[in-house]
Amino acid sequence: MGLKARAPWREKKYRPLSFSAKFGWRITPESRLALSLGHGRGRVVLPLPEVISRDGQPVSPKDWGEIRLCWDRNDRSWSLHISYTAPSKALPGRAEGRPMVTVAIDEGVINPMTLAAPMPDGGMKVLVVNGRQGRSAKRYRNKVVARLTSRMSRCKNGSRKHRRLVAAKKQVEAKTERRLHDFDHQVCAKAEQFTREVHETWTEHHQEISGPATVVGVRLVAGDVRGIEQNTNKKRRASRSTRQQLSQWSRGRQEDFLQYKTGLRLEHISEAHSSQTCPRCNTRTKVRGREYVCKNESCGFRCHRDAVGGVNIHTLAVNDGTFVPDPDLDIEVTYRRSQTGWSSLQRSLHAYHQNVLGRAGAACREERRSAQNRATRTGTTAAGVAVDSAVISDDITAHPGAGRALARVA
Ligand SMILES: [Zn+2]
Repeated sequence: MGLKARAPWREKKYRPLSFSAKFGWRITPESRLALSLGHGRGRVVLPLPEVISRDGQPVSPKDWGEIRLCWDRNDRSWSLHISYTAPSKALPGRAEGRPMVTVAIDEGVINPMTLAAPMPDGGMKVLVVNGRQGRSAKRYRNKVVARLTSRMSRCKNGSRKHRRLVAAKKQVEAKTERRLHDFDHQVCAKAEQFTREVHETWTEHHQEISGPATVVGVRLVAGDVRGIEQNTNKKRRASRSTRQQLSQWSRGRQEDFLQYKTGLRLEHISEAHSSQTCPRCNTRTKVRGREYVCKNESCGFRCHRDAVGGVNIHTLAVNDGTFVPDPDLDIEVTYRRSQTGWSSLQRSLHAYHQNVLGRAGAACREERRSAQNRATRTGTTAAGVAVDSAVISDDITAHPGAGRALARVA
């Protein structure tokens, strides 16, 4: 596990030295930390730092991943940033004799994930995760890239203008990619939370019936839409803009994230007619717009379009691929938006950590304000210390939880 832990994504202002697990750093037989500076260039040996996780537990060196030696320009000191793995607990999967609950997922371009799960009272609980911000990021990128490409076509290959346009294009593409990566995480965090809540509800329910030792397994099932994003131009089944949306759909990455977060494998089943069939009377209706309205007048079922898809995928998953209508089906739909960036909780936690690390307050703000302020601060060491074990070993401080956990919050 420790091998996979990586340092936070945030770029350091000063280029840090990084030491990967096993190859870059190791624990010496005398229980000291050795940082290798490369073949034939010696190593830095330090006292073994103590790493405390966010919940106050010591983290053993075997869970450590990459270590970075960073120059803290505000504190004017070296510090070790130690990343470690802190995976969330995996949900129990399928096992012999274990009661199961199925969480069905309908994936879409407009709402990236719609989850449906039964409740012990017989109703269906549905969560629609909205993807507006992801679509807006993609649309912005597409428009900027189109504009830059058309300007590039008007200038000479390799000219100064051309080079600048290429750089601008790369910049917007990289920025969008970072936003979308965050966005996919936000979507899956909401899906994970829903799955855990469903699991909790059913665990309580089964434990009341058959004792406190009962473990409820979770089955994650998604409608199989793999491949519809490929060769959209050849197939020509959709309009130009829809084809673009399909090609840029990050469904696979979202599935990966959800599997990682829940620790479960995602099953795929055929989702044929799952968006058209009425879950109450089994009539098929072509859907127009965002709301499903059953064309069978004696039924008159109305519901959010993606919620119907989710409920039907659940029905197909638990009935071996056949629709079983339920005349008094009750669907409770909740909507959540995935917003990229920091939530208010993350913002307040960040302030808390800055405070703990002694980087908050008016005095520190004043120091940070300019290079001159930093340079004239009392008690600072000279800048530009060369990487030399004799110099740095005394100044080194390990910041507890400065690794993966801090990155998760920030
Ligand atoms: Zn109906």
